Amino acid sequence: MAENTPKYFIDTTYGERLDSNGYAPSLLSDDDSCYFGHGLQTVRHEVFFGPNRTNSKRTGMWVYVCTLCHNEIHHTDGEKDRRLKREAQEAFEKVRSHEDLIAIFGRSYT
Ligand SMILES: [Zn+2]
Ligand SMILES: [Zn+2]
Repeated sequence: MAENTPKYFIDTTYGERLDSNGYAPSLLSDDDSCYFGHGLQTVRHEVFFGPNRTNSKRTGMWVYVCTLCHNEIHHTDGEKDRRLKREAQEAFEKVRSHEDLIAIFGRSYT
């Protein structure tokens, strides 16, 4: 990467400042420990994954989770997935609105 490449750029659709990987700042957490309180190695998880993965990145709907929690969310623990979606929706609606949530993600999780 060239030295003068900007580290961040502004997403004109949602007005968020994205990092070089396309992530707006998370609305759910501001550190890189597991969202569910574990101290293990973490990965970024897009809360509304699948077809809404990019929208999740661009609106801060992502968290760091440990690899154990990540596996549970995607494969074995639907309640953990639903809890995260509910909490993300609440965080989203505090800074935007319910109408925006439906417009962007297509449904409500509360
Ligand atoms: Zn994930
Ligand atoms: Zn965890």
